[in-house]
Amino acid sequence: MSLTIGVDIGGTKVGGGLVDENGDVLATARRPTPADDQAGVIQAVKEVVDELREGREIEAVGIGAAGWISSDRSTVMLAPNVSWKNEPLRDKVTAVIDLPVVVENDANVAIWGEHRFGAAKAHRSSVLYTIGTGVGGGIVVKDNLLRGTHGVAAEIGHIRSVMPGGRECGCGRTGCLEQYASGRALTRAAREGAAETPDKAAVLLKLAGGDPDAISGRQVTEAARAGDEVALAAFDAIGYYLGNSCADMVNLIDPGVILIAGGVVDAGDLLLDPIRRHYEEALANRNQVPFAEVRAAELGSKAGVIGAADLARHRDIVP
Ligand SMILES: [Zn+2]
Repeated sequence: MSLTIGVDIGGTKVGGGLVDENGDVLATARRPTPADDQAGVIQAVKEVVDELREGREIEAVGIGAAGWISSDRSTVMLAPNVSWKNEPLRDKVTAVIDLPVVVENDANVAIWGEHRFGAAKAHRSSVLYTIGTGVGGGIVVKDNLLRGTHGVAAEIGHIRSVMPGGRECGCGRTGCLEQYASGRALTRAAREGAAETPDKAAVLLKLAGGDPDAISGRQVTEAARAGDEVALAAFDAIGYYLGNSCADMVNLIDPGVILIAGGVVDAGDLLLDPIRRHYEEALANRNQVPFAEVRAAELGSKAGVIGAADLARHRDIVP
């Protein structure tokens, strides 16, 4: 049996999984992500790998990390979570674990997991949105990750055609999709709505102790389930931008399926229904040309670990 390890370097934890060739996770390990401590992150990765490899033959390690990864899959050119700039992550990890290492963007490893073993496995081309604090994107075209010339393709969250000149984004520009369609955007829409029309936000305000600024993402979901108008409008607002973005992806990629992943997906149809409605409206006059279904991803938080481990297994086939 061929075993590889997938590691997901997140903002709060470094999570790892021992994965077989069927994409099954046989064991997991995790460490907290040390904030602003680059050497500490390498050490956390080493500890996770050491815990998982004990007594076993491991072929390679795949690492998923948020940020812009170089096209040779060695260097994190820029990362928001751990303040990396041109960090030679692959070589540093290889030096301490002595196994082949592949580094890939976190949304890319997630769609690769879904493509190989999850909700996109029936399709050769697919698009994935991860809706969390921000909006991540991954694209597979004809069984290959779309990585682009410099390794930084598929940054769907930073497509800014939705609102040029709009809200400021962490990437340094304005009007990116992420500012209108993320979990943070959901909470912002609910807070603004509750402040403007408190009579339509009775459930929401009750949950937040009467203070619109105290409204959390979880409370927006809970209030929407109870029929709160402002909470439902907040889901509709991010669904509008996501649905239209999905329609753009149909025109650009023509995927077999479009997946929605990330923390906000716990809201289920509260999120998926508005996305689908706006998506279908945006494609309504397309003269009966078929288009992709929009559905929830399947592998949840394991997608990254499974995808990274599989990319490590197939490390010699550079897409
Ligand atoms: Zn941006």
